[in-house]
Amino acid sequence: MQMFVGGDWVDSHTKAAFDVTNPATGELVDSVPKGDREDTKRAIDTAKETFRKWSETPALDRSRVLLKIADVVRANLDGLAMSLTIEQGKPLGEARGEIGSFANSCEYYAGLIGRERGAHTPFSTGEGYFIVTKRPIGVVGAILPWNFPVSLMGWKVAPGLAAGNTFVVKPASSTPLTDLKVAALAVKAGLPPGALNVVSGPGGVVGEELLDNPKVSKIAFTGETATGRRIMEGSAKYIKRLTLELGGSDPMIVCDDADIDLAVEGAAWGRYRNAGQSCTAVKRVFLFKSIADTFTKKLVEKVKTIRIGNGLEQGTHMGPIHNQPQREKVEEMVENAKERDAKVLVGGERPKEKNLQRGLFYEPTLLKDVDYDAMMAKEECFGPALPLFVVKDLEEAIERANDTIYGLGSSVWTKDMERAYHAAEKIEAGTTWVNSPPIARAEVPFGGFKQSGFGRELGVEGLDHYYETKSIQVLEYGKGKKWKFPI
Ligand code: NAD
Repeated sequence: MQMFVGGDWVDSHTKAAFDVTNPATGELVDSVPKGDREDTKRAIDTAKETFRKWSETPALDRSRVLLKIADVVRANLDGLAMSLTIEQGKPLGEARGEIGSFANSCEYYAGLIGRERGAHTPFSTGEGYFIVTKRPIGVVGAILPWNFPVSLMGWKVAPGLAAGNTFVVKPASSTPLTDLKVAALAVKAGLPPGALNVVSGPGGVVGEELLDNPKVSKIAFTGETATGRRIMEGSAKYIKRLTLELGGSDPMIVCDDADIDLAVEGAAWGRYRNAGQSCTAVKRVFLFKSIADTFTKKLVEKVKTIRIGNGLEQGTHMGPIHNQPQREKVEEMVENAKERDAKVLVGGERPKEKNLQRGLFYEPTLLKDVDYDAMMAKEECFGPALPLFVVKDLEEAIERANDTIYGLGSSVWTKDMERAYHAAEKIEAGTTWVNSPPIARAEVPFGGFKQSGFGRELGVEGLDHYYETKSIQVLEYGKGKKWKFPI
């Protein structure tokens, strides 16, 4: 497959390419161009040239194009979902949901654009008025991770295009294929060629060019906190606008009055969906003592029913871990917890089944008696291993929940809404779900506190991050003070 620049399929000018493999089978899926700085510059130039045309396109027309993109993507949902499962590893049902989420983001921002209100307000001194308007920023470099390659592209390009910006997208090296296909469909749906370009290649090359190039005005990044630090540094030279969606270590607090069956489902869904590789996956569970045994027993039973396998096969609940270093990291974390006397209740190793040996599988894993100094209690565990902790009350749970550098998501499970609200107020995280697994919704702003990042995606706030705010101050003739220098 080639990369997609200026509405055309192109190779790298060097003709270099790299392979994309299926994490469930180890088989080659396709190869894509290994873009370099020169290739990236060309895409940026194209996006810059298209910016004027697209930003001056009336909002209603931009809205129509976004709706058309959503339609075309939905019409191709089956093929796109299969492509995503093959390159990323997630079960087909989850892949279908992810493609649908891309279309949903387009529809949501198509609905918002052209319907915003600005401000027109008199000066407090009475001598005139000011108007506040919003302008698109320019060319945006969108840098994506491999865990949700398509929906996270949607979180960026849907509001960004709606606001009139143009894009150079850099997908993760191991998941470029479906993003490339979606970009081509967007142009087929009526987006001007050059408004959405996708350059495949290494983060340290394509990504660095997006940071270094003065024609890129904003970087929208999702990925690890460590990479986020580099993105901040690299953006400093030209004071680029930034949104950083980084890692998380989300706490789930289960109170003594919680609906235990519901909470068990929430924990299973929250931790093992996408093989645990979600930024807002449930990564630490805090259980009130009186319900800890019941909850644990029920969750053990549930986790034992999770069927792992190739995401293309019907009946698969959980696919492989996406890459080998990631699987080794999860294994290291489980071993580290065991060395500190944690008990493995389910899983804790690679599956033995013959048909799973070629893929990067790891059993859904549940641990208790995990030391608070263990790696999985301190760092982001980006895979299917979940530690359970017991706490004496809500205050201890909140204190433990906040004992992390991260602040992305969190959840509290209780029938007492006063208690839920208290926890939500005290937990240092961008989102607290109440009696709900971590579900992102197009209309709700999403983002992190602390080292989980800054800026927001989704919601009206997400659109705002693709605008510059412009103030126009008008002094009315004959009103107020006559300005003279020296004053
Ligand atoms: P990563 O940081 O390794 O890579 C993300 C992207 O950055 C990739 O496209 C990579 O090629 C690129 N990159 C790497 N070095 C770069 C550089 N020097 N300059 C520019 N770009 C560079 O992240 P990942 O492993 O792909 O994704 C997993 C991480 O993403 C987890 O930490 C997860 O929590 C986080 N995440 C966060 C959110 C959120 O919304 N907060 C959502 C999904 C994933």
